[in-house]
Amino acid sequence: MSGETQLSGPDLSQGISLSDLPEGGQVVGHNGSEAVLVVRRGEEIFAIGASCTHYGGPLGEGLVVDDTVRCPWHHACFSLRTGEAVRAPALNPVACFRVDREGDRLFVRHKVDTAPHRPASRGETAPDPVVIVGAGAAGNAVAETLRKEGYGGRIVMIGPEPDLPYDRPNLSKDYLAGTAQEEWIPLHPREFYDEQRIELVLGAAVKSIDLSGKTVTLEDSRTLGWDALVLATGAEPVRLSIPGADLPHVHLLRSLADSRTIIEKAKEAKRAVVVGASFIGLEVAASLRGRGLAVTVVAPDERPLGRVMGPELGDFIRGVHDEHGVVFKLGTKPAAITDTEVRLESGETVPADLVVVGVGVRPRVALAEAAGLAVDNGVVVDELLRASAPGVWAVGDIARWPDPHSGERIRVEHWVVAERQGQTAARNLLGRGERFDAVPFFWSQHYDVSINYVGHAAKWDAIEVSGSLAERSAVVTFRSGGRTAAVATVFRDQESLEAELAMERGAT
Ligand code: FAD
Repeated sequence: MSGETQLSGPDLSQGISLSDLPEGGQVVGHNGSEAVLVVRRGEEIFAIGASCTHYGGPLGEGLVVDDTVRCPWHHACFSLRTGEAVRAPALNPVACFRVDREGDRLFVRHKVDTAPHRPASRGETAPDPVVIVGAGAAGNAVAETLRKEGYGGRIVMIGPEPDLPYDRPNLSKDYLAGTAQEEWIPLHPREFYDEQRIELVLGAAVKSIDLSGKTVTLEDSRTLGWDALVLATGAEPVRLSIPGADLPHVHLLRSLADSRTIIEKAKEAKRAVVVGASFIGLEVAASLRGRGLAVTVVAPDERPLGRVMGPELGDFIRGVHDEHGVVFKLGTKPAAITDTEVRLESGETVPADLVVVGVGVRPRVALAEAAGLAVDNGVVVDELLRASAPGVWAVGDIARWPDPHSGERIRVEHWVVAERQGQTAARNLLGRGERFDAVPFFWSQHYDVSINYVGHAAKWDAIEVSGSLAERSAVVTFRSGGRTAAVATVFRDQESLEAELAMERGAT
């Protein structure tokens, strides 16, 4: 997704004084129409584009770590030396500029080409072909990272959806609200995949895997051989099993096609019921309010998000939705859905001409299970993201990996984790032996409020709130067994980045 960059600060082509950039300091200015971030680290001075290539976040408000800068919005990371996107969710580089020192003045006048020219990996060490099952966040990251790392062999990525890999988190947010254009949704244009020689087999699902014969068979009976196989089949939404759950105005939301259908229905609908007070359910509620529908959220919980975020953030998020006119029916569940209403177990009825169900997801592990891979609430992988058979890898929502931070084997459903796992798995396919040790990160957006969350706290002993949720400036720390298990922030992006870094470095 892109946005107009507001230029601020000095015109760097006219130069700034070295004294404006103290050791460790940074300045955001511009060169022509481009915002540029200048950073000084010791004797070195770097200049790169100042807008994150993910959603346009301001890198000047991010965190500089060694020779990289992390975006405050969704924690993408760029090399200050080259502008390269070194960690998801950014996939494309920012520009890199030469810094000229003339006396005590610094000038940023020229862009430099720093695209890494990595040698193509040699055929005898790298597997060929690599077949990727699933063309979502994780699968896409595997494919493009393989090429970035110089892999020269064949890459085939298979997915049942007809669309190019796309920005799934947007489906419940700006895209559904009507404020993000359809052209922002694909992660890359088709030419990108052609240029990168990534073969897309779209509109085709894999039906079975033969581990000993090293083949996959598609639903249309085509068979493809692989030397390495990456499973990235994501998760599927849980369906309701109540009368009326399959009526035409009742929808799940996982795919771009689902979001398009809900948007079409929302044009005529007046009253929506969202079943489930999960992140997706609440984001859908916010987006449908943005389209002017009356929205009622029905969920068995005492408060929205309470089980994952605790009472403080749960009450906060409820308040945000109350302010926007969302009605909550909590402590109850739908018992039946008719053409015009949702009947609740509490005996109440809520009128509805559109129902969106967001009651959780299950990892899509049927393929892996049928193939005989180890599956236990997800495909079990080791620290390198290898599944239990040679040459097979699993990444994204389906992967359950040994998380060094919590000391537990975990599986999460986060966009950035899926992409980072794809990036790590790609490097490991090329023999790098890189442990997947990223601290989990996700964000959720409700109207103009975004919650950023780092770490993983399935449970906690204590929650500490610093700042004020009422004033929308807070850091919420989840502590477990004396350590910081997770940190959620509201409009405190720096602290979120710092918490991520501290967890990476093993601070408690
Ligand atoms: P996916 O992106 O789901 O991709 C899996 C792909 O595999 C799909 O294209 C699927 O069709 C394909 N596939 C399935 N079966 C087969 C088969 N048999 N053969 C071939 N292909 C197959 N996370 C966040 O961190 N922040 C957010 O704000 C956020 N918002 C979200 C909003 C919505 C509406 C949804 C649905 C999810 C959201 N998520 C968010 C979660 C995030 O999108 C997922 O964690 C992420 O997409 C997981 O990536 P993945 O590659 O594992 O799975």
